[in-house]
Amino acid sequence: MNESPHEAQPLIVVDRICKRYGDAPAAIDDVSFTVARGEFRLLTGPSGAGKSTLLRMLAALESPSSGKIAVADEELARLKPRARAALRRSLGIVPQDLLLLPDRSALDNVMLPALVAGLARAEAEDRARAALARVGIADVDRYPPALSGGAQQRVALARAIVNRPVAILADEPTAHLEDSAAAGIVRLLDGFSASGIAVVLASHGESVALPERTRVLRLASGRVVS
Ligand code: ADP
Repeated sequence: MNESPHEAQPLIVVDRICKRYGDAPAAIDDVSFTVARGEFRLLTGPSGAGKSTLLRMLAALESPSSGKIAVADEELARLKPRARAALRRSLGIVPQDLLLLPDRSALDNVMLPALVAGLARAEAEDRARAALARVGIADVDRYPPALSGGAQQRVALARAIVNRPVAILADEPTAHLEDSAAAGIVRLLDGFSASGIAVVLASHGESVALPERTRVLRLASGRVVS
């Protein structure tokens, strides 16, 4: 929970962002923080605190109502659609509901973003197999519904790293898992961050031990508490 030594050149800079939906109180209210390359960052706070909203904005899936977000020195609001799509491909996004295609094999699910990024089929397949091996999925021909919750989460992680992202943004990746499966996911995320990928994890409460170097951003009602 120490300050990162890489703070001079953070990968992600969030500068005083607010997000409002209609007349409701701001979902995100004047939030600032940075994430360094290779950092392990936890966004935590009770349900409704704004964690998912914040992750969606980091992923450029939604824009803040005010304030700025920059990833790798690119201010998201200034990106044209093509650059925004490229930026999104440089982020490994693991949504809360995973969004794995149930009627495609694990291998096909993981290959898909590589194909969308323009890789040739053979290379996409090589990359997907390597990503699945890295997360410990041996039976790559299985379909997601035939996999355990932990294995589905691993496939979603493989899909997130297939395009060699600079950061992984994972929304409650351990929420519905038993402790041993959850610990396995955290170990994988820790390994990714140790290899230089920034990991931003949203979680409402951790029963699983996180790496000691984890930096915590605690939110409540859209504001930073600590
Ligand atoms: P958390 O992930 O911490 O549970 P959320 O980011 O999902 O919190 O929600 C934060 C607040 O923003 C909540 O009050 C929620 O109702 C509101 N909110 C999130 N997304 C939307 C949306 N698309 N439209 C309206 N309100 C939203």
